[in-house]
Amino acid sequence: MGGSALYQTFARLPVSFERGEGSWLITADGTRYLDFAAGIAVNSLGHGHPHLVAALVGQAGRLWHVSNLYDIPGQQRLGERLAEGSFADRVFFTNSGAEALECAIKTARRYHYVKGQENRFRIITFEGAFHGRTLATIAAGGQKKYLEGFGPAVEGFDQVPFGDLAATEKAITPDTAAILIEPIQGEAGIRVVSSEFLRKLRELCDRHGLLLIFDEVQSGIGRTGKFFAHEWAGASPDIATIAKGIGGGFPVGACLATEEAAKAMTPGVHGTTFGGNPLAMAVGNAVLDIVLEDGFLEDVARKGLLLKQGLAGIADDFPDLVEEIRGSGLMLGIRCKAPNSAVMAAMREEKLLAVPAGDNVVRLLPPLTVSDEEIKDALERMRRAMEALAPSTEAAAGGEG
Ligand SMILES: *Cc1c(COP(=O)(O)O)cnc(C)c1O
Repeated sequence: MGGSALYQTFARLPVSFERGEGSWLITADGTRYLDFAAGIAVNSLGHGHPHLVAALVGQAGRLWHVSNLYDIPGQQRLGERLAEGSFADRVFFTNSGAEALECAIKTARRYHYVKGQENRFRIITFEGAFHGRTLATIAAGGQKKYLEGFGPAVEGFDQVPFGDLAATEKAITPDTAAILIEPIQGEAGIRVVSSEFLRKLRELCDRHGLLLIFDEVQSGIGRTGKFFAHEWAGASPDIATIAKGIGGGFPVGACLATEEAAKAMTPGVHGTTFGGNPLAMAVGNAVLDIVLEDGFLEDVARKGLLLKQGLAGIADDFPDLVEEIRGSGLMLGIRCKAPNSAVMAAMREEKLLAVPAGDNVVRLLPPLTVSDEEIKDALERMRRAMEALAPSTEAAAGGEG
């Protein structure tokens, strides 16, 4: 580490991988890890999916980049498919989640600005939110640990407690432009926002002329067994952001909006050099070829239940280690009683990878293509990890019970 030329911003684990196959990551010495982290919900179709490899390699031989000075057919196609499968009419492509959020924030502000309401730029967000690491998105997220030391926070974000409708309504002023929320908070520890709450936010926005923004960077593109997590709630946003899963590991993000919400985003008011380039669009279209296949999303939902039921059994057997299982589809969290870092380390001993989150949670975000067998394998590894952590009496009780 001492000789590293890299910024020391990441607390990296002492393991690296040479290649991947489906739900597996393989080190240089051939050790196989079952990957229930999937690049933090990014490798939506696992590693080395032949359809994605073919799409990327094929495009790489034709054309990499032309800039948004020209029409990009792959972008038109992916935009149309995203719009067709969602509430949206317009799509802006980015390279990351945070950039998609920047576009969403600018879209909401500009919407009111062109109506002559230039002071109407404030956005209500929720405690525990995570929207990225740019200056505006750390202000939107409102977490002190991410804001500290970076000068005055970008103005215009008002944070209210998670799930508190009265506080949300009270925070609305004539200067409020929008409400921004993750339907399932990922970083904060797989905290699911209730369907009723999302519908109430829709009502509030309609009543007060606000735009509703759903950040689906983690929950979108099939992760919960619907194309978008908000479909479970039956509440449509005006603007939504996606990223992680749409590129399957290639950097792609997008901001989606209704015609009405996007109409102030006219030529020249926003832009990007790399966003929506032919390589990214080839991969994004290939991801949708699979995710939108008949039965794919239903299968994600079914596998999510299988995993959740298995985890619930483990929670029952290890009540001193596990508090609760939560989440939706293949976006699940184990709220731990033991420190989540200890649980993650024990899982790593069993060659099972996951992602830590806030609220002492271990996140399980396997590829959407994970097999039933791999889910059962992961549950066995998880059980062994818990046994290794448990006081011997509990392990015995769990084993016999
Ligand atoms: C990961 C994430 C982001 C930020 O995405 P980046 O690609 O890291 O900029 C924003 N919102 C949510 C909900 C996320 O999970």
